[in-house]
Amino acid sequence: MRKPFIAGNWKLHNTIAEARALAGSLCTSVGNKEDVEIVIAPVFTALAAVSAVCADSNIKVAAQNCHCIDSGAFTGEVSAPLLADVGCKYVIIGHSERRQLFRESNDFINAKVFAALKAGLSVIVCVGETLEQREDGSLFDVISAQVNSALNEISTAQMEQVVIAYEPVWAIGTGKTASSDEAEEVHAFIRGLLGGRYCAAVAAATRIIYGGSVKPDNIGELMAQENIDGALVGGASLKADDFSAIVNYTKTLKVVS
Ligand code: PEP
Repeated sequence: MRKPFIAGNWKLHNTIAEARALAGSLCTSVGNKEDVEIVIAPVFTALAAVSAVCADSNIKVAAQNCHCIDSGAFTGEVSAPLLADVGCKYVIIGHSERRQLFRESNDFINAKVFAALKAGLSVIVCVGETLEQREDGSLFDVISAQVNSALNEISTAQMEQVVIAYEPVWAIGTGKTASSDEAEEVHAFIRGLLGGRYCAAVAAATRIIYGGSVKPDNIGELMAQENIDGALVGGASLKADDFSAIVNYTKTLKVVS
């Protein structure tokens, strides 16, 4: 069984008061759900407040990034142990906005994955191709390099704490969603990569979620695909009604064949 996984990436939005209110609404609407793993990722400054709001619910809190070193002279960074200290259970690593705007390399992302797992956090590792890469035929090479590099030296046991988010860069925040068939093709490819790197059991158990303009009206079609286990939701996660509708769509556990 792979438990459906729905995560909201709030990006650079919401004051502490706004974050608290949004988290409170979600606790009311979906906070008791047990058949879907629900994660929300506020900005660093709201993590403590949102962790407190969600403490008695089934909603887990994620950070949107972390540094790869635990402490030291790294002005402006936040480390994985400090995220665990503030109540985070997850951290998003390798989001395309980090890769593109902040030039994060595959090696740096791997170091962060390693540090987060060492600190006891689970990770949502993002991979995805640009439109140019899809069009020039390097899609599968890019995904393969990103997945293999991010998981370098990550053990079979540690894979229980890893969720992979396939997010085609051209579909993020653009209103363009990959068709469910396009997404499924890449998800199946990633599952095959995991089978080759680890074993069939790891491939079958790892959640691979889709991100890129997911909305209440397209989550159903995406979730119907065999290898799509959930969603990483940006824009629509900022509205309690939309995010709740996305969470509520995924009512049943997926049976792994
Ligand atoms: C994201 O931020 O990871 C994302 C997929 O954003 P959006 O849903 O707005 O495309």
